[in-house]
Amino acid sequence: MKTDINDFIANLERRTPGEKEFHQAVEEVIGSVWEFYEKNPRYQRAKILERMVEPERVIMFRVPWVDDRGEVQINRGYRVEFNSALGPYKGGLRFHASVTLSILKFLGFEQTFKNSLTTLPMGGGKGGSDFSPKGKTDGEIMRFCQSFMTELYRHIGPNTDVPAGDIGVGGREIGYLFGQYKRLKNEFTGVLTGKGLAWGGSLIRPEATGFGAVYFAQHMLHRLGKDIEGQTVAVSGFGNVAWGAISKINELGGKVVTLSGPDGYIYDKEGITGDKVEYLLELRATNNDIVEPYAQEFGARFVADKRPWEVPVDLAMPCATENEVDLADAKELVKNGCKLLAEASNMGCTAAAVDYLHETMDYAPGKAVNAGGVAVSGLEMSQNSMRINWPREEVDTRLKGIMKDIHETCVNYGKNGEKIDYVKGANVGGFVKVAEAMLAQGVV
Ligand code: GLU
Repeated sequence: MKTDINDFIANLERRTPGEKEFHQAVEEVIGSVWEFYEKNPRYQRAKILERMVEPERVIMFRVPWVDDRGEVQINRGYRVEFNSALGPYKGGLRFHASVTLSILKFLGFEQTFKNSLTTLPMGGGKGGSDFSPKGKTDGEIMRFCQSFMTELYRHIGPNTDVPAGDIGVGGREIGYLFGQYKRLKNEFTGVLTGKGLAWGGSLIRPEATGFGAVYFAQHMLHRLGKDIEGQTVAVSGFGNVAWGAISKINELGGKVVTLSGPDGYIYDKEGITGDKVEYLLELRATNNDIVEPYAQEFGARFVADKRPWEVPVDLAMPCATENEVDLADAKELVKNGCKLLAEASNMGCTAAAVDYLHETMDYAPGKAVNAGGVAVSGLEMSQNSMRINWPREEVDTRLKGIMKDIHETCVNYGKNGEKIDYVKGANVGGFVKVAEAMLAQGVV
């Protein structure tokens, strides 16, 4: 029985009404794997794609906690255990007011393919809450994390589901979550990644997503006979991803001229270099906005309520959140001479922007470019299982090797004449492994 792509999408929308981010993510993947799927009756008979878009399990729960004024607060917690064909569910937790089931389903779906691309044995999952740590005190954040874990602990484990950080969840939150898990289970295992170095964390994990993204961009540039040295780069955000990317670009001789926050962006023509990065890190540690104070301190231009895609650069690296580059931004980038966009955020570009970028420059999607973060999480799991810590060089060498392999997978599956269709390459490359594993494991 042959299914048509339009029927498939209509059926998905009927079964998951209103989940627009999830639909966007599925449509992007389906668009590139459909041709491949149609040629494989084995996959169709086993309804591989139909099963792939249905999470294996969704857990939704109440997270009650008491704020500093003694008032009871209620948030909603989630864990979407999407696909375990390749290994334990693996993926971050996002704590942000914008979190919905649709967003976590899109992230969990993407994570399955991203994790498959890393070559490490990890399934896909994602979780989080509509709680924003921003503006909360340390005590409030701790109580929230403890309450969140008081429900989550029964669903996760080092061989079952291994959460990590994402937007709003950094080392501090992972610490509080880990402490509560340990207390409830009375066991010290690698159940979370992104842990502190002294208690099971891996070197390079905090900067891994940004480092990996730059290694990937460097492979894209090398294919075009270029190098990151001497290139001007626009970066958005200033979380761990942007920080890692900026540090690595500086080390390789590129120049980052923008970063952004929720209120706007800064344009620093001289480059966001060594001391300035240190200044930003200190400011960030105080939970404050960083963009405007930076502009004042270093005489850079602050542009309120705008995104940094309007400045002339050779390369753009979105490092903040989904759909942060729309069609108008993409056109502006191309008009100003930008030749390459490597998406370090998850689904950083809208579907219309992706179509346009695909025609006009080299574009690579988040699931390939930002896979270095979860890859080093996978390496953290290995170190925890062996109860050893690898030195920095060992982790970095493995990360470099993984990013090279992901780039090769994209090139192999994404050849399109002289050009590489990185979207197709990443989607098909990620899909094949998951599909084969699902076939081998029967109808489950
Ligand atoms: N949140 C990161 C991502 O989107 C990392 C997940 C992890 O380390 O498990 O890939």
